[in-house]
Amino acid sequence: MEMNTKLWFDPAKLLVGGAWREAEGGGAIPVENPSTGETIASIAAGTAGDVEAAVSAAEAALDGEWGAMTATERGRVLLRWARLVEERAETLAFLESTDVGKPIAQARNDATALSRYFEFYGGAADKVMGETIPYQAGTTVLTLREPHGVTAHIIPWNYPMQILGRSIGAALAMGNACVLKPAEDASLSALAVAALAEEAGLPAGALNVVTGYGHEVGAALSAHPRVHHVSFTGSVGTGRRIQSAAAENVVPVTLELGGKSPHIVFDDCHLEAALPTLVGACIQAAGQTCSAASRVLVQRGIYEEVKAKMAAVYNGLVAGPASGGFDLGPLVSGKQKAIVTRYIAKGRDELTIAGEGRIDDSAPAKGHYVAPVLFADVPADHALAQEEIFGPVQVMIPFEDEADAIRIANGTDYGLVAGVWTENGARQMRLARRLHCGQVFINNYGAGGGVELPFGGTGKSGHGREKGFEALYGFSRLKTVSIKHG
Ligand code: NAP
Ligand code: MG
Repeated sequence: MEMNTKLWFDPAKLLVGGAWREAEGGGAIPVENPSTGETIASIAAGTAGDVEAAVSAAEAALDGEWGAMTATERGRVLLRWARLVEERAETLAFLESTDVGKPIAQARNDATALSRYFEFYGGAADKVMGETIPYQAGTTVLTLREPHGVTAHIIPWNYPMQILGRSIGAALAMGNACVLKPAEDASLSALAVAALAEEAGLPAGALNVVTGYGHEVGAALSAHPRVHHVSFTGSVGTGRRIQSAAAENVVPVTLELGGKSPHIVFDDCHLEAALPTLVGACIQAAGQTCSAASRVLVQRGIYEEVKAKMAAVYNGLVAGPASGGFDLGPLVSGKQKAIVTRYIAKGRDELTIAGEGRIDDSAPAKGHYVAPVLFADVPADHALAQEEIFGPVQVMIPFEDEADAIRIANGTDYGLVAGVWTENGARQMRLARRLHCGQVFINNYGAGGGVELPFGGTGKSGHGREKGFEALYGFSRLKTVSIKHG
């Protein structure tokens, strides 16, 4: 790779027990730059044997230096790691934007968020406490928070650094030893960040990274009998397979499986304040965001006005190479472009296009670009209003009143995030209570945002919570100790 000289890690190697080495069998997977379609490096194609070695290394870390560290010491490691990420943020952002295709400004935000996750969980590590519980006379009962043990982390390609940060940060803070499997389309930043952990003083084996294919490494890791907790972010289909594999071993899973999140725009809202977010919360990362606000529900009285204003924004959007400062970059892969293009073609046949952006002339033909599209007057039960597209496609749906809005908003299989735009305080509270999802934003929206905010879904969006202090409970288990002393 061109940038090799500037890198502090070898992309072609795995990290197992503190040692960087090739995959068992020496297999490799090419790394593509989605902005150009060119191959820029290769990563190791790990195997079930590599997973076995990584789990063993994690166990050894728990039995050794890592397991012996106090919560305060673990926190300090995370805080040093946060500083190193901050120092190397520009290179990390460059790697992420080259590997995934997101505009460099968005990748810089991801690097900042990663550093914040390590800072947040570094500070929180020694602030998780148990309780004493009033019980029988002559008895004292207390609770202890303990790590699960070996935790598996299977992450997707859309926000590799952020999802690594929230998942690995919380798991390490609680004293687990981790095996991380990044997506085959986006492994570079995970390797880069793992290499910094060593500098931060993380003992060998506390974090292991096995790159490779999902059906090989991901499947072996989620089914491994000596893994005690599995954290997964990605598609519903793969989530289902992971939960089944974990069920065989009777271990807990955290699943974050995307969504079809709505903005609900009432006619009393402050529209000018809402407008940039209505569009921005969908097209960031070219729409490849689990919490993308891909449905815009607008009250009838202001529907035409909102449609015209959003259409004008869409008509000005430009997709181009990640390095170029465009509104959006390419999609991550030819496979993802094919999925999104099929949805857009279906929409063109069956729906009305209100606004459409364009692809810049400088975009290489082999890049995976898709021009963003806004569909209007979409029936709430249409496939484009029900299914996660994971691309720069937004649908507008009119509604009559509050009851109608709630019915449409709750009318998908998903339930991740919702945005509510209204100045009516009582209505804000009613919707916050009645919407089926894990996060409600009133007069704001944080697609993927908020290190401090617990995050996760209901329904097919998954279960369990990551981010915020709450994640520390998910990445630990409670033990009750009853002491009879008379
Ligand atoms: P995916 O299959 O769910 O991939 C997510 C992660 O799971 C990757 O690390 C993947 O590895 C791994 N994986 C794949 N098959 C596995 C298996 N059998 N066992 C264990 N792990 C496995 O998602 P995708 O195919 O990349 O994307 C397809 C669709 O998923 C997208 O169109 C989008 O709708 C949705 N998605 C959602 C999110 C989200 O944030 N919720 C993120 C990404 C995608 P490999 O990459 O190596 O296959
Ligand atoms: Mg790539």
